[in-house]
Amino acid sequence: MSDINNICVFCGSKFGNDDLFRQSAHELGDLIAQNGKQLVYGGGSVGLMGVVADAVLENDGHVIGVIPERLATEELLHAKVPDMRVTADMHARKATMAELADVFIALPGGYGTFEELFEIITWAQLGFHRKPIGLLNIAGFYDPLIQMIDQSITAGFIKSDNRDLIVVRTTVSEMLDAIETHELPQVRVWNGPQTTPQQETS
Ligand code: AMP
Repeated sequence: MSDINNICVFCGSKFGNDDLFRQSAHELGDLIAQNGKQLVYGGGSVGLMGVVADAVLENDGHVIGVIPERLATEELLHAKVPDMRVTADMHARKATMAELADVFIALPGGYGTFEELFEIITWAQLGFHRKPIGLLNIAGFYDPLIQMIDQSITAGFIKSDNRDLIVVRTTVSEMLDAIETHELPQVRVWNGPQTTPQQETS
């Protein structure tokens, strides 16, 4: 994982009810630190978020937490993360995480995880960034979501090439290998309003 330094992980603020979720979160944290990479994540101590962060810290790795002011409470904030960045709101948090990350990996989670995942896929689809995005399909958790994406392709809402905006793997080690070499599809890049010569002179 040569060019990759910062791995941003999106994951549940709960543990989920399959122990494989927790084990995978732990393994991801272990391997991030053992490969000399840094974790960027939502700054919480709860659920799988806390598991990934703790595993990185246990291996003497570096963790960057990015948390909005309203969630930076004693109950939620991970007290052992020295590099904690507090943002004004959720939008600033996601923008900061996106800026810091070289790649994104989603573990199982709920609405918050889906939201972070789909926003970052959407930004890739629009050409706002070209960073790989991994979906860790632990124990088939994301099968229905993958089906939904395929259905959207069939129904003509997602370009079939853009299925490759995400890398899907079922184990942490396969994911870390795959995401390093993943080639993103070419997308149309939107560069803002174009001024025509007529507009420039008027
Ligand atoms: P969810 O998948 O709904 O549990 O939400 C998890 C995602 O939302 C995480 O990646 C965090 O960025 C954010 N999030 C949700 N709950 C918390 C929390 N209690 N503390 C910090 N971040 C949270």
